[in-house]
Amino acid sequence: MIPCYNEEEVLPITAPLFLEELELLQSKGLVNQLSRICFVNDGSSDKTWELITQLSEQNPSFVGISLSRNRGHQNALLAGLMDCRDKCDITISIDADGQDDISVMEDMVNAFFAGCDVVYGVRSSRETDSFFKRTTAQGFYALMGKMGVESVYNHADYRLLSAKALDELAKYEEVHLFLRGMVPLIGFKSTSVEYERHERMGGESHYPLSKMLSLAVNGITSLSVRPIRVVTAAGFVAAVIGLIGIAWSFIGWLLGSTVSGWASLAVIICFFGGMQMLSLGVIGEYVGKTYMETKRRPRFAIDKRTGTRTL
Ligand code: UDP
Ligand code: MG
Repeated sequence: MIPCYNEEEVLPITAPLFLEELELLQSKGLVNQLSRICFVNDGSSDKTWELITQLSEQNPSFVGISLSRNRGHQNALLAGLMDCRDKCDITISIDADGQDDISVMEDMVNAFFAGCDVVYGVRSSRETDSFFKRTTAQGFYALMGKMGVESVYNHADYRLLSAKALDELAKYEEVHLFLRGMVPLIGFKSTSVEYERHERMGGESHYPLSKMLSLAVNGITSLSVRPIRVVTAAGFVAAVIGLIGIAWSFIGWLLGSTVSGWASLAVIICFFGGMQMLSLGVIGEYVGKTYMETKRRPRFAIDKRTGTRTL
């Protein structure tokens, strides 16, 4: 299961590698001869879909579906997973760019045979990532943890899911997806396999800081209400300070020592004004999300498929 968005540069390099690994697994008898490599074209504006159709014509092991428009990595992944459901015993999802070590798929399949329904691919080091990507990613995982979202450290979307786990995932109907946080909620026996993350084999990352931030905000607000609790806690502290302030002013008035304190007043007004706006923003984020979720809009639409062959 490989989501692809504008990957024309990298697909010709990585597709043969995926095929090689599939054939290796097949020759070892670990996976069925009918196993497929499924690409999900996430509304690419370049030649990605043409490449996928060409690949599927060359080799029946390649199949592809194309979404009606760009819906983002998480939705593309879910589209592929849901499309494979009922057709397979296991799925492995991986990025198209060859950053994740393809050869650990064998360990993943072995872990499945050992009884695991979920196997996470975990990066043992991030040396090949740029300093910026590494620090922002680490900040991301730290923030997720602090905000009460259970996620596997340094695990992106390279994972094996059994048919049983997929069926459970299908029951999560949320529209705003954060699979990294949703999969641990499913439960079942799970394990991790470690690998070194490589550099992208071509093309450029589609996750600039803005997308990373929105993924982080979405991950947190979809899976945790801790930010609202933080607002409540801050409100409580502010209320206590307010009470002390009232007592202080009252005593000051009784003692007749109330001098006009413009600066302190201005500071207090600015501070609480800011706090209130911020708190409203956090709560507004959840209200907005509730609104969007209640629409129950479809999470993806499949436009085309390669050939007429079913998986
Ligand atoms: N991707 C996608 N839709 C998008 C953005 C990305 O399907 O809107 C795919 C992309 O083709 C790749 C994977 O998601 O297979 C991860 O993206 P990328 O490698 O750009 O992210 P990074 O590894 O830098 O976090
Ligand atoms: Mg990548």
